[in-house]
Amino acid sequence: MYSATVKPILQANGRFPVLNENYESINNPNLFYAGNLAHSHDFKRSAGGFIHGFRYTARALVRILGERRTQIEQWPHVEFPSIVSRSLSKAKPEINAAHIAALAKQAMERLNVGSAAYQMVHVLGDAVVFQCDKRQERLNATYFEELPLKYFHQKFRGYPRITFSFGYFGQARPFDQSIQTGTKFEAFVWSFPGDCTGGKQRNGPPPGPEDRELFRFEESLSTQWTEAAFLPDLEVILAKRAVDSLKGVHWEKLSWGPPTFSKHGDKITPLLASASHLGFAIAAGKEFEAGEVNLWVRNLKKSNVYLQRMAPPPADQEWENHTIVHPSGGTKLESWHLDIWRALGEDDAVLGQHEVDLSNGIVQDFVVGFSEEELRQSCPQEDRIP
Ligand SMILES: Cc1cc2nc3c(=O)[nH]c(=O)nc-3n(C[C@H](O)[C@H](O)[C@H](O)COP(=O)(O)OP(=O)(O)OC[C@H]3O[C@@H](n4cnc5c(N)ncnc54)[C@H](O)[C@@H]3O)c2cc1C
Repeated sequence: MYSATVKPILQANGRFPVLNENYESINNPNLFYAGNLAHSHDFKRSAGGFIHGFRYTARALVRILGERRTQIEQWPHVEFPSIVSRSLSKAKPEINAAHIAALAKQAMERLNVGSAAYQMVHVLGDAVVFQCDKRQERLNATYFEELPLKYFHQKFRGYPRITFSFGYFGQARPFDQSIQTGTKFEAFVWSFPGDCTGGKQRNGPPPGPEDRELFRFEESLSTQWTEAAFLPDLEVILAKRAVDSLKGVHWEKLSWGPPTFSKHGDKITPLLASASHLGFAIAAGKEFEAGEVNLWVRNLKKSNVYLQRMAPPPADQEWENHTIVHPSGGTKLESWHLDIWRALGEDDAVLGQHEVDLSNGIVQDFVVGFSEEELRQSCPQEDRIP
């Protein structure tokens, strides 16, 4: 199907091309994928291999291309201006409660009816970014719909921001268990601290995974996300994080009371974690957990590579030998946020390294023997095929 000059690097399964956050082949700039072949970002994790899933990733691709072509074709969004403001005469920032309430309502209404996030769990979601003027007097929130979360994080890395998506914990369960203990389908509200002036963005945000926290809203059989039970908690999250963003302070943990229950028995379980201790309980390794990532490794070398893993603290910070990957072969690894993987050659030389950052997706690729950086240098944006 491909001429020799544009053969995409495929994942180890031999089916899907390895893509960047723009659904673009990593080794063929300007070769974009829609439909079933765009499933490499969510293979075995979401619905991108089916029509009910890829209709949304295809729409996302159209919007990505629109944003690349011209700044006029902006991603659909809603502005919430001055959600927090402060003047020199007043010590404390003032929260615009009506705008915070409207923002929370927008997010919950979208969770209730937005179909892209529901079908493309972990992959597509709505998101809000907090931005302010240089003097940090006013904080504006911009709410985007149905973004690929990886695309959003790449675009606004360094800014304070919050995403709304879905996921599940051991959802394959008997019906009576779902009735008694919930469906385990959950709304994930991830929040990231950052610099609302974008200053870090200009100097380049610090490398490596950013701090983050996760609030989990559990679903029951008849959840209405717009119910009064959820809104006040989300308003608290948004207001606190907006104030912190304007003040430029690192986000402190929210002190939270016991889980609250709605009239349908939906439980709101805040689970706070920062990047240094994403302490998701591992239930015998069986249930899908919020920090889990599928890492697809491809070896493009003509010799064996040896994979080693370093787990984040509190585990020992030592390289553990893991797997051999044969020439032109590959493998799929179960990995976790903040794991670091490296590939060694026969002579123990380090051939590549991959740090797992959940912001880069639920399915990630580690291609040994190929450097996106080298490709960018050999083929700058302006020289690419239009
Ligand atoms: C048995 C089965 C049951 C399924 N059931 C469901 C279901 O119930 N619900 C659901 O959502 N999904 C289902 N799917 C999945 C769904 O059908 C596919 O994911 C979907 O059809 C893929 O669409 P696509 O446009 O990406 O690719 P395709 O439909 O595969 O289209 C690719 C097209 O490209 C053409 N082509 C290939 N090479 C070339 C070339 N070199 N030059 C020009 N043209 C070329 C092919 O002929 C083909 O027409 C099912 C799949 C199968 C196989």
